Amino acid sequence: MELEESGRKVLEVLVSHLCKVAPGKPETYLGYKFIHHALNLRYLGPTWGESLKNQGLGVLAGWTCKNKLPGITGIIINTDSYRPGKGYFNLFGKDEEDYSWWTDEVKKSKNFDWSPYIYEEFNLKPVDLSAPNREDVTISRIIRDSKLSVKVKTFNNCECQICGLALEMPAGKKYAEAHHIQPLGEPHGGPDVIENMICVCPNHHAMLDYGAIELVTENITSKNGHVISAQFIKYHNENVYWP
Ligand SMILES: [Zn+2]
Repeated sequence: MELEESGRKVLEVLVSHLCKVAPGKPETYLGYKFIHHALNLRYLGPTWGESLKNQGLGVLAGWTCKNKLPGITGIIINTDSYRPGKGYFNLFGKDEEDYSWWTDEVKKSKNFDWSPYIYEEFNLKPVDLSAPNREDVTISRIIRDSKLSVKVKTFNNCECQICGLALEMPAGKKYAEAHHIQPLGEPHGGPDVIENMICVCPNHHAMLDYGAIELVTENITSKNGHVISAQFIKYHNENVYWP
């Protein structure tokens, strides 16, 4: 029943999007390319579908089939044809034209409780993370909310460590974002550790991402023992900050 990490990551993107999926309306489903971007995957070719198949989709689809779970991978479609690849139908032993079966699997996927198979942060309740449920930002925000980013925000009471602002949201919630000071992934290769993270307001997040500001240790507020390592601040100032 264990789901390999690559498959779990794809599943998390799908589950976090399920609330917006309308069964039988493929325009509400997700493209292969979209999943690549959501997970920061490399395009391995020869098509977006094949590339994703080798980076978690194949694992996830095989796992759902083997364990007789709903065929949730059917919400990933080719955005030219608005259909899943043939492989989806073949895997489950279905005819490639069997749209009613496909729609049924999507319906079942929406009603199924996936929470035992994914990390809790990716559950269907992103609002609990203090984020407003704005359609266009939901996906990227949920993905960014790893356990560590929740922690860095909690430590700092959702207050920007640069300007002190905590955005007030409905129902008394506060909103902030977690930023990796030495960015993750190519070409920076920063580590996913709390010492490399800072809790910021959306304005300061954008300014850090675009290298518009320098980080000055003395001006950064830290709460509850959250310590940012000097090496990452140095990295930002030397490699990301663009005076
Ligand atoms: Zn700020």
